[in-house]
Amino acid sequence: MFRTIIGLEIHAQVMSKTKAFCSCPADVFEKKPNTLICPVCTGQPGALPVLNEEVVCLALKGALALNCEINKKSSFDRKNYFYPDLPKGYQITQFFKPIAENGFLIIDDQNGKEKKIRIRRLHIEEDAGKLLHIGSENISESTGSYLDLNRCGVPLIEIVTEPDMSSPEEAKIFMEALRDNLKVLNVCSGDMEKGALRCDANISVVDEEKNYSSNRVEVKNMNSFKFVEKALFYEKERIIDELKKGHDVKFETRSWVMPDKKTVSMRSKEKENDYRYFPEPDLPPLFVSDEKIEIIKASLPELPRDKKLRFIEEYNIPEYDAGVLSSDLLIANFFEEVAKYTNRPKESSNWIMGEVLRMIKEENLDLENSFLSKELFQDLFKLMDGKIISSKMAKDVLDYALKEKKLPSVIVEEKGFKQVEDTELITKIIQEAIKKNQKAVDQYKSGKKNVIGYFVGAVMKETKGKANPETVNEIAKEMLEK
Ligand code: ADP
Ligand code: MG
Ligand code: ZN
Repeated sequence: MFRTIIGLEIHAQVMSKTKAFCSCPADVFEKKPNTLICPVCTGQPGALPVLNEEVVCLALKGALALNCEINKKSSFDRKNYFYPDLPKGYQITQFFKPIAENGFLIIDDQNGKEKKIRIRRLHIEEDAGKLLHIGSENISESTGSYLDLNRCGVPLIEIVTEPDMSSPEEAKIFMEALRDNLKVLNVCSGDMEKGALRCDANISVVDEEKNYSSNRVEVKNMNSFKFVEKALFYEKERIIDELKKGHDVKFETRSWVMPDKKTVSMRSKEKENDYRYFPEPDLPPLFVSDEKIEIIKASLPELPRDKKLRFIEEYNIPEYDAGVLSSDLLIANFFEEVAKYTNRPKESSNWIMGEVLRMIKEENLDLENSFLSKELFQDLFKLMDGKIISSKMAKDVLDYALKEKKLPSVIVEEKGFKQVEDTELITKIIQEAIKKNQKAVDQYKSGKKNVIGYFVGAVMKETKGKANPETVNEIAKEMLEK
């Protein structure tokens, strides 16, 4: 038996207006290179950093939501290394005394079981710049590397977990839960694809029979939640393979290479940089008062997992629905509004998880500025209750309602979306179909009950999908069993 152990180091870009230690704008994503910089963030001689209070508040918000203990006195340090995207020659971070420690996040694992993942520490640090490599390694006129310093000094929080995750799937679930939390807190956009949330994963495998543990391997460059799971799964299998062969697993850093769907060795951990950490002489210690902690604690919104548990309790919807609906604030609020107004939580959930989420994803629907409302769903439910339209027709009606910004009942009137309840007409169509296909009737009588679909289909075709499927089914059954 092999047991997998995973711990994560996560960098989350904090959504403050300005950078960590200067007044340059912090939102630098896809901005013109080298336009959002100043002497401080590019490390000019004599320029001094000033800590951004908003960054501290956002870090505290994240830390308190993750149940961390706040260090009332923390400090900043320099992490020294040479790289072209780091003009200062060091990053400011909190190495010796982070702002927060010893927290946890409770997740529901792949089997729906509650699991506590401990947070070792959370600290503030600044990002480095970006190198853009053009062309091949053979330097010529059209090749070379470009330097964009906009990202220098962009504020991050680094969150380090204890090695408490026991599968790649669980690591992905944790990352998603963390993202959902940071998003409702407005601490981080959570966008892994855009690099606003990044994750390095440490993984090791224990051979329980031999009571032997592999070295841990660090995996980098997984820029989506899916890849976190895929890369770790690949790595877990690779380590188990090595263990089975009796090989040593190297203590190293590996990189997830997307096109090849595998990890490759980057460097040995044994020979890793010595960052020569030392206290940052240009910044005083950071003091956080009890009052400040209390104010921020009181301002925390309802967190996704609490919301999920409340949805199950209050609306009596399945755990799966509650999980999906509570993971995004806009969707959660919309669900509650519709569920309360229509007094039909499960149906509201079905429509929102099905049609609404599909339209958000496929048609880029903007929930806030769309025609969707609680009144619209009540109207739609009424049309279905009154058997004026079938649930299948309701989807088309909803599409039109949004496109034309009219209530479903108006669409039904204008477009003649009425369900055919005409039993005489339905009976006539089925009679025709029976005449044409005696074989199907015999099959039905000999026990192949699902050939009823053939007759229902015939009616749907004749009525252009407007017949009430329940009524058609009833009539067809009655006639075939005669
Ligand atoms: P480093 O200095 O290499 O970053 P740390 O001690 O800071 O090492 O640990 C980094 C990460 O490695 C943490 O997230 C921790 O949970 C994880 N980790 C520690 N031990 C193991 C292990 N045996 N297997 C998997 N992950 C581990
Ligand atoms: Mg590390
Ligand atoms: Zn600056």
